[in-house]
Amino acid sequence: MKVLVAVKRVVDFNVKIRIKSDGSGVETDNVKMSMNPFDEIAVEEAVRLKESGVADEVVCASIGPAKSSETIRAALAMGADRGIHVVSDADVEPLAVAKLLKAIIDKEDPRLVILGKQAIDDDCNQTPQMLAALLGWSQGTFVSVLAFEGGRILVTREVDGGLEKLSLALPAVVSVDLRLNEPRYASLPNIMKAKKKPIEATTPEELGVDAAPRLTTIKVAEPPARQAGIMVESAAQLVDKLRNEAKVI
Ligand code: AMP
Repeated sequence: MKVLVAVKRVVDFNVKIRIKSDGSGVETDNVKMSMNPFDEIAVEEAVRLKESGVADEVVCASIGPAKSSETIRAALAMGADRGIHVVSDADVEPLAVAKLLKAIIDKEDPRLVILGKQAIDDDCNQTPQMLAALLGWSQGTFVSVLAFEGGRILVTREVDGGLEKLSLALPAVVSVDLRLNEPRYASLPNIMKAKKKPIEATTPEELGVDAAPRLTTIKVAEPPARQAGIMVESAAQLVDKLRNEAKVI
């Protein structure tokens, strides 16, 4: 079984985000970038499927500027077999990403596609659902346990107030949540080996996809600075302040 994993290059989760002075977006110049953390979990799961003999090939795909190839290399160092890089300097929105992934999937014909549940830069949580809809495939989102049984996939989903178990027919699209696994660190020998693994480069035009944005960002702004707290003398004063100043009760 072939598994395709989508990996996005995003601002590293440890970086304190800075807003561009003109409010047009987030500063990415001279900022540490990494693989979206949920995508690391997706790659880990795909590599484990290969190690357990369920999958025989793991292909990872990324859409983004030239440097996204570093993100693909990181996935290859974790154990993926080869990469596909759709080179685009523009900001590619989830619908366009889903269309580009569909074009890749039409060619590659994987039985399972694994994505992160959301990218930590745009926080959209849209691409996996849109992709499943475009393909007309089964989908399991927010997956925290994944198992195979009788040619189907059993997934446990983290939903409001509990866990939901679903049995999905293949082919399927799965988006992964935090508790699915703990991604491995790539060892030095595997980082060296990954340099020799193939990455195919393509473009939205070659894939026949119109990736032009449908949305316009009006303004990006910092959240208001938090005000300092105060000490109250009594519970009665607290209630009074909550009722008459904060007006929350
Ligand atoms: P989003 O819908 O933007 O929150 O992204 C959800 C997931 O879709 C991510 O965790 C990735 O697996 C995948 N994805 C989104 N954008 C890209 C991209 N530019 N390249 C590759 N995968 C992506």
